[in-house]
Amino acid sequence: MSRAVAIHKFGGTSLGDASRIRNAARLLAAARRRRPVVAVASAMGGVTDVLLQAARDAERGRIGLARKAVDALKARHAAAARELGVRFEEAPLRELSAALEGVSLLRERTARVTDLVSSFGERLSSPLLAAVLAKAGVPARAVDARDILVTDDRHGAATCDRKRSDPRVRRKLKPILAAGILPVVTGFIARSVKGETTTLGRSGSDTTAALLGAALSAHEVVIWTDVDGVLSADPRLVRGARLLPRLSYREAAEMTYFGAKVLHFPAVLPAIAEGIPLVIRNSFRPEIRGTTIAAKGDGTKGIHAVTAVPGMCLLSLDGRGMTGVPGIAARVFSATARLGVSVVMFSQASSEQNIALVIPEGDRARTVAALEQEFRWERLTGSIDSVNARAPIAVVAAVGEGMRGTPGIAAKVFAAVARAKVNVESIAQGSSECNISFAVDGKDWVRAVRALHRVVSI
Ligand code: ADP
Ligand code: ASP
Ligand code: MG
Repeated sequence: MSRAVAIHKFGGTSLGDASRIRNAARLLAAARRRRPVVAVASAMGGVTDVLLQAARDAERGRIGLARKAVDALKARHAAAARELGVRFEEAPLRELSAALEGVSLLRERTARVTDLVSSFGERLSSPLLAAVLAKAGVPARAVDARDILVTDDRHGAATCDRKRSDPRVRRKLKPILAAGILPVVTGFIARSVKGETTTLGRSGSDTTAALLGAALSAHEVVIWTDVDGVLSADPRLVRGARLLPRLSYREAAEMTYFGAKVLHFPAVLPAIAEGIPLVIRNSFRPEIRGTTIAAKGDGTKGIHAVTAVPGMCLLSLDGRGMTGVPGIAARVFSATARLGVSVVMFSQASSEQNIALVIPEGDRARTVAALEQEFRWERLTGSIDSVNARAPIAVVAAVGEGMRGTPGIAAKVFAAVARAKVNVESIAQGSSECNISFAVDGKDWVRAVRALHRVVSI
């Protein structure tokens, strides 16, 4: 196989029903005329949510509801298969039912079993897409990613071990490609070193595609979704959001880290590592070129996009006794790292009398408890007053490679937010100068995003 392959990933809405699956097969057949293709399939739209709800129902002993959910999934996939004129392989559903019965019996839902249950969406959709391709005259074979991607055992948000996985990916997929067959790989799922089913986190099929692209030194990784590409803001929040034809990896990383749901943040990392372009395109409007994410952005100055992550909590440590005392920030970070809590934003006042950090709201109680424990002596001696928590808050970010070295950007950002009468609680600017992020009250974030979008300069 001398020609570089392309990876084409289809998201949930792009595989939502029989006609969408047929459309995906058509796009794959066209792409394959240019170069060898590996497809990555997400679950049919909404299926992962149904599976997760069924697992929660089973845990609460509502096995009747969980069984109904399995029946509904079977009916949905069988109807699509019938309409497409292909066979529907039911075997995975028996395994799903057994897993849910087990959860219900034990009234216990571990992270491990949650991953197993949520894996079935992709395990049902991939064979369906492969069968449709084969019927259309494109030789195709469903591949279970658990045979090729090895991760750590952080169930629910596992990280791929590329050293272990890359050779497996090549060993499995290259012969299939060399035989002129199109592999259709399950997105989202993988397996741990111990052999258990893991998942890469919600929206993780993007990362599956990027990982396969990196292992195969792909020409490009195309992410087919339901919007024209990466837009200057979430189109559900900002009506005038515009298509960004070119983004740098760094801009894409900042945007996706700070809430742009159009791409799974970890997908950017293997793409950067191997310099593989990520192309985001609309499967409903393939005539549009979409967004290309590569080493260089479009080179223009100013703010390119606005993103936001709601559902956060702002923690602050205050006290005169922190001034000039080394290691306070390090202790904060080691406490959060021990808990596995991700710090979305961090800032320290130059007086060193205040440290602020933003974490997910769900991690509030245990993080406050851990910080109070960590700084118990300082609190006793009065050098740190208290650990304060405020929620809900949201982090809003202005992103743009061209913000670097452009004077007055911060003034523009905060003037726009002030005009919307939104109070800014805490500010951080990454040293890359590719991002200015700030925390606002949970009730204000949509207003802040809209106000800030008015100063986006593309
Ligand atoms: P898929 O199922 O194809 O993976 P997702 O729902 O994960 O699709 O991602 C696409 C959605 O991301 C869009 O429908 C859009 O609502 C949302 N989105 C959020 N922020 C942005 C943005 N900046 N640009 C484009 N889409 C965005
Ligand atoms: N099906 C998974 C989810 O809904 C993964 C994905 O769609 O990328 O999160
Ligand atoms: Mg997605």
